[in-house]
Amino acid sequence: MNRALINIDYTNDFVAENGALTCGEPGQKIESKIVSLTEEFTEKGDYVVFAVDTHYENDHHHPESTLYPPHNISNTKGIELYGSLKAVYENNKDKENVYYMSKTRYSAFAGTDLEIKLRERGIEELHLVGVCTDICVLHTAVDAYNKGFNIVVREDAVASFNQVGHEWALGHFKGSMGATVK
Ligand code: ZN
Repeated sequence: MNRALINIDYTNDFVAENGALTCGEPGQKIESKIVSLTEEFTEKGDYVVFAVDTHYENDHHHPESTLYPPHNISNTKGIELYGSLKAVYENNKDKENVYYMSKTRYSAFAGTDLEIKLRERGIEELHLVGVCTDICVLHTAVDAYNKGFNIVVREDAVASFNQVGHEWALGHFKGSMGATVK
């Protein structure tokens, strides 16, 4: 079965200590696991997607503009991939199986060409990593479920600022989406 790794929102604003909307320590703790999974999938020739929340200065039309402070603004340090994941991306970005895409909403599928990229490669299984477990990972998983993809959530490579939400989402992936959580 063809598979893909979907790297969700592992950026400075969501992970770094001084990030605009940071998960803090739980997010920082998963760095080495995200990096090793990204390297593993890249080397095996699996499809590796960096799906990154992207906002623009003074965009008052975006629904998040009333919910959160500005974050992941295009062309800022905040939107850059966090820690050593940035170098892993830079070292592999020209490979045929590595794809960087801007996310428009919580779900990586909303208003993007992600589904068509996966379908044309015959990909049926999605491995989800990144932040936040109960927001962007969750919404991406819901869309993936509705589209009929098999879902694998890499438990030690997802995190949230909200531990209760994190635990709830892991249970929801297993209990209501038939996802593998490992
Ligand atoms: Zn956002």
